[in-house]
Amino acid sequence: MTDVVPDLDPGAIAQARALLADARRIVVLTGAGISAESGVPTFRGAGGLWKTFRAEDLATPQGFARDPRLVWEWYAWRRTLVLQCAPNLAHHALARLTRDRAGVTIVTQNVDGLHARAAREAGARTMPLELHGNLFATRCIDCARDAGDVQVDSASFATLPRCRACGGLLRPGVVWFGESLDPGVLGRATEAAALADVALVVGSSALVHPAAGLAGHTRAGGGAVIEVNPDATPLTGQATVTLRATAGAAIPRLLAADPSA
Ligand code: NAD
Ligand code: ZN
Repeated sequence: MTDVVPDLDPGAIAQARALLADARRIVVLTGAGISAESGVPTFRGAGGLWKTFRAEDLATPQGFARDPRLVWEWYAWRRTLVLQCAPNLAHHALARLTRDRAGVTIVTQNVDGLHARAAREAGARTMPLELHGNLFATRCIDCARDAGDVQVDSASFATLPRCRACGGLLRPGVVWFGESLDPGVLGRATEAAALADVALVVGSSALVHPAAGLAGHTRAGGGAVIEVNPDATPLTGQATVTLRATAGAAIPRLLAADPSA
């Protein structure tokens, strides 16, 4: 997380609130930054996950082929970390938005499942689209069967989990570097972005494609882009409004019925 968080600009908050109030359709695009205040490390910020591990050793099909045990150990650690965390104020406020308003789609790059947990708690009418999969999903590397939430802990590192149908190795059900996204999920996310009057982009470094390009579809359709991020990103220059703040500070203010509350 960024150390210096400037105060929220009241003018920018008012402008962003007006855009959201007037929107018929809203797409919310989130990255690792929205979960930082829940205690889930980001990849690229200070203390980010990639400072201690090399992405190409762990989050690629080649890395898994080379050393599946190391990759499973890393994912088991990340699962443990996420299980100790809970959705924060920003996840909850967005979940309530999808419960209270029609035409809101949450699209996340995160694999931590925190949006889905908040959505279930709020009784939201739609579930988030998880572009990069989920840390708790598993898939067979041979027959591609979805094996669901299979427990992997230090006791199973010696054997590693196997597919019940064909005996193939199971892998984490996430999208790795160099892999394609699920075309169905990407299609629905692209459509939601293209139809949206507002794209609210929260805590994404806007470097990982195709997720980073989704706000461009909203712009191309004449919609506005609101960015919430304590740091500038490649998207900042195209944003209609930028809120230079953490998600936990900005999102509840942006979505509260009474902004002064
Ligand atoms: P990233 O790690 O590349 O960037 C995080 C962004 O969040 C940065 O721009 C940073 O300035 C911003 N940020 C940091 N603290 C914030 C806060 N409190 N509020 C708002 N913004 C904050 O993340 P990315 O753009 O999502 O791309 C990395 C990829 O890695 C993703 O596609 C995702 O699949 C994966 N990832 C997921 C998780 C998770 O599931 N929580 C964690 C790390 C990485
Ligand atoms: Zn199989």
